[in-house]
Amino acid sequence: AIPLLSVDRLKAYYRLKLFGIDREVRAVDDVTFAIGRNEIYGLAGESSSGKSTLIKTIAGAIRPPLAVETGSVCFNFSDGTRDIYRLTPRELGEIRWKRLSYIMQGSMSVLNPVRRIRHSFTDFALPHVPEKGAAFAERIGRHLERLHLERSVLDAYPHELSGGMRQRVAIALATVCGPEFIIADEPTTALDVIVQKGVLAMLRGIQRELGSSVLFVTHDMAVHANLTDRLGIMYAGRLVEEGRTRDLFRQPLHPYTRHLISSLPQIGDDTPKKGLEGSPPNLAAPPSGCRFHPRCPLAIDICRREAPPMVAVAPGRRVACHVVTASPDAVAPAMEEVR
Ligand code: SF4
Ligand code: MG
Repeated sequence: AIPLLSVDRLKAYYRLKLFGIDREVRAVDDVTFAIGRNEIYGLAGESSSGKSTLIKTIAGAIRPPLAVETGSVCFNFSDGTRDIYRLTPRELGEIRWKRLSYIMQGSMSVLNPVRRIRHSFTDFALPHVPEKGAAFAERIGRHLERLHLERSVLDAYPHELSGGMRQRVAIALATVCGPEFIIADEPTTALDVIVQKGVLAMLRGIQRELGSSVLFVTHDMAVHANLTDRLGIMYAGRLVEEGRTRDLFRQPLHPYTRHLISSLPQIGDDTPKKGLEGSPPNLAAPPSGCRFHPRCPLAIDICRREAPPMVAVAPGRRVACHVVTASPDAVAPAMEEVR
C-alpha cells in the first residue's frame, strides 16, 4: 500500500547571521521515512535533536530563518496526493484541520487567551465542516462528549481550565474535523502522570475511531512505549534507528537507542542510571562522520570519517551505525529471538 506520509531525503536548515557571519544550523539533515494509514508513529530523541523542526517541516509550517534545502514531503490523502512544498498558502489552508492537524507544543498557543473556547472552534473548525449554526454546535458538543469533556467548557476562557483540560480541548479542536493525519508535539509533557495517561488514552481512542494516523513527538520514552506502534529515534538532526516500538524496546540496536532505553527507570531497580557522557552536538558545527561518535562507547575509526547510512537490518527495522550494520548476521538471529 502507498504510505499516507512519505518523507524523502529531507534537509531543513536554519540560516542565521551571527556576528556578521552566515551560519547554517542543520536541524534536519537527510531524513527519510514513511507512515502508513491507521498507525501511531513516534519520534524520540533528546531536546534539540531536530524533532520539532522535522514535524514543523512536515506540517508545512516553515518560516525564515528555517528553510527546506532539499527533499520532499508527500501526503497521499483519500482525495489525492499533495506534495506539501508545491502547495499555495490557500491549498495548504484547505488541508489544515480537515486532512492534516497539528497539535503544537503548549496548548495555549492555539487557544486564544482572550476568547471563549467556543470561538476557537468557530475560528478553526467552522470553515472546514459542512454543518453551520445549530448543527455545527451539535457536532462540537458531541465531539467533546466523546472525549469526556463537558459541553460547558465551550463557555470557558482558556485560563479557567486546568492544563490537562486545555490539552484535551486542544486535542478536541485538532480532531473535530476528522483529520486523516494528526501531528502532535510533546502534547503531554507539561502534565502530571495521571492526567497525562488520560490525555493519551483519549488521543488513542479518537485515533482508533477516526482511523487517523498520528505522528507523535516526545523525548519521553515511557510515553512512546505505551502509545506508539512504530518508533523513529533522532539524534542531532538525523534518524538513527527505526522499527516497531515493541522490537526497539526489546532489542535496541543503535548505541544511542540503547542508552535511551537503559536510562528508563525499572520497577524494583534502585541503582542510579549512568548518564551519557558529553552533551548533544552543536548543529551549526556537527561532529564529522557519525554525529554520535564523540559520545559513543562503540566508536571505531570509520565513525569519525564517514556518516553511517540508514540500512535495513530486518523487515521493518533500519539502523544507521557502522558497527551494527557490519554484522547483520549477529543482529538477525537476535531479532528472531525477540519475536
Ligand atoms: Fe557509534 Fe560508530 Fe555506530 Fe556512530 S556509527 S553509533 S559512532 S559505533
Ligand atoms: Mg521540541
